Amino acid sequence: MLLVAIDVVLSKRAQVINPSATLSLTAKAKAMKAEGIDVIGFGAGEPDFDTPQHIKEEAKKALDAGFTKYTPTTGIPELKKAICKKLKDDNGLDYETAQVLLGCGAKHCIYNAIQVLCDEGDEVILPVPYWVSFPEQINVTGATTVLAETKEEGGFKVTPQDLSRLVTPRTKLFILNSPSNPTGCVYSRNELESLAEILVKNGIWVISDEIYENIVYGVEHVGIASLGPEIKDLTIVINGMSKAYSMTGWRMGYAAGDKKVIGAMSNFQDHSTSNPTSFAQKGALAAISGSQESVGQMVAEFRRRRDYIVDRLNKIPGVSCSLPDGAFYVFPNISQLLNKSLDGEAIQTSMRLSELLLDEARVAVLPGTPFGVDQYLRISYAISMDNICTGMDRIEEWAKRIS
Ligand code: PMP
Repeated sequence: MLLVAIDVVLSKRAQVINPSATLSLTAKAKAMKAEGIDVIGFGAGEPDFDTPQHIKEEAKKALDAGFTKYTPTTGIPELKKAICKKLKDDNGLDYETAQVLLGCGAKHCIYNAIQVLCDEGDEVILPVPYWVSFPEQINVTGATTVLAETKEEGGFKVTPQDLSRLVTPRTKLFILNSPSNPTGCVYSRNELESLAEILVKNGIWVISDEIYENIVYGVEHVGIASLGPEIKDLTIVINGMSKAYSMTGWRMGYAAGDKKVIGAMSNFQDHSTSNPTSFAQKGALAAISGSQESVGQMVAEFRRRRDYIVDRLNKIPGVSCSLPDGAFYVFPNISQLLNKSLDGEAIQTSMRLSELLLDEARVAVLPGTPFGVDQYLRISYAISMDNICTGMDRIEEWAKRIS
């Protein structure tokens, strides 16, 4: 048989999308663990708690009752109603069920929202540091990402001046993620009001990713859509079950906003994934309408870990770390360790520092680079306190060797 070599020519879309840099380091850490090497993994983007029992029970019941068939593409009506109630009660937002869509995780909802809003030639303003998937999801539409640099002294938040400077007639969309992954920053009501004013004046759409809404420490989470009818009309609110209810594997997220945009997202889903998993929707219904006690307990534990880890990091020479108001990440500044020497090698990037930490200290952290800044590391504290203590001991010992 004659074998003909196939010249694989991928689409332009496939060529612009990059593999997840965070996943490759996490994969290496996992491989080391599989070899029996004891690695402390600070890479996790998911809570280390189990999904609360009452949520699992409802999904099990649904399975046993044969709730295993297609549902409407945008989700079952009772779940959409419960989401409308949640948005009203928690966020002061009135939506009809036709303005709400369930997708396979918040990531999927953001993907579809960007797909239906953006074209080649459009500009999307994205604050830096950003969650790794945003630039990739923008790139595949052919739209241009316009980065809004922020400063650590300003809490990594975009100022109205920064935003105004970047607006052009082509600006279509602004991406807001508060509380933020990776910095944990939370925008205040005042800060959001000044951004909303500019967005409304220029008719710019907003994707407001509020997936970490519940994970805040003594500050208020404000959704930008709640600031007035004009900004509400321009905002697609994104949220989901993954973080608040430890349901990352269930793939349950939702979007709420303009009927036409949600309708177009629904058309995209009709011809791609169809509905999110039927019995997972029953679990999501239990999550959103049942007891919220587990959320409070989880947040209290995260707060304890955040305080500990920030304190430990600030005691390591060359590292400084501000106290984030939300999410379950810290974002320490390691600029003073860069270009210093370790065994004759000048460590030049956060990527190299992360590699060395993994190889030599058996600690997996993520470099700042995939989040858009090289002078930082992203450390998740969604791991046990014991592991955090051991991991911090290891980082501290290792950092002593840098001169
Ligand atoms: N947005 C942000 C900022 C996130 O950090 C994540 C999860 N890492 C998501 C969205 C996606 O969440 P989901 O599991 O609902 O897709």
